[in-house]
Amino acid sequence: MATLEINDLHVTVETENGPREILSGVDLTIKQGETHAIMGPNGSGKSTLAYSLAGHPKYTVTQGTVTLDGEDVLAMTVDERARAGLFLAMQYPVEIPGVSVSNFLRTSATAIRGEAPKLRTWVKEVKTAMTELQMDPAFAERNVNEGFSGGEKKRHEILQMELLKPKIAVLDETDSGLDVDALRVVSEGVNRVRATGEVGTLLITHYTRILRYITPDYVHVFAAGKIVKSGGPELADELENEGYEKYAKGGASA
Ligand code: ADP
Ligand code: MG
Ligand code: MG
Repeated sequence: MATLEINDLHVTVETENGPREILSGVDLTIKQGETHAIMGPNGSGKSTLAYSLAGHPKYTVTQGTVTLDGEDVLAMTVDERARAGLFLAMQYPVEIPGVSVSNFLRTSATAIRGEAPKLRTWVKEVKTAMTELQMDPAFAERNVNEGFSGGEKKRHEILQMELLKPKIAVLDETDSGLDVDALRVVSEGVNRVRATGEVGTLLITHYTRILRYITPDYVHVFAAGKIVKSGGPELADELENEGYEKYAKGGASA
């Protein structure tokens, strides 16, 4: 079983006034088959954690380690991370003009699997996944994220997750901006992948809403660049009732 281990991760971002530390010692271990939720207020550094794991060049790791089955993730290029089984669904997915969804998916699958998927089974796989995510088949010929609605972008992220079959998936606010129906469809997609037992999921969210559809095994409260409390699903209920205030003030710890 694959294990992602994050140890004392410190990350800075370059600003006009020089480097600023955003992550201040994140510790987290995610195993294949587990679902973890990270919940925290806006600006606490959740997306920075996601980008740092994916290898975004804007973020500099100044301290700590990230390993996948003992392999140094931080030494890997973005491509190598994807091939190693890491997947990031971005909070704000980017447009790729001139590249169709179908082309993008097949190219990604080819890069990650090391060979082109057999065309007939692939076409079927894509069709099935799109149907389950209630996506119009015509969608496959549109350019990636160009003019997509918020819900379409998020469905497209989950479509990638279903087809690329990562070992560890980081979903950054996949729930934000979704209406109830889209939220349910997207959550069902995540739960289908989860049911295979072959993915470890890190669900990053600001709201407890998505956790009514996807029950996490572990919940972590994130504040000011690190995890300040960890528990089971009941911790999400506590946050729903009490909010983040006591954590934002930096008072509480695990
Ligand atoms: P969250 O996802 O929890 O809302 P982010 O990781 O997006 O938090 O941001 C955490 C903090 O880091 C914020 O104060 C944000 O302004 C700052 N930050 C993140 N990325 C950058 C960047 N590229 N340049 C400057 N500041 C950044
Ligand atoms: Mg935010
Ligand atoms: Mg964010």
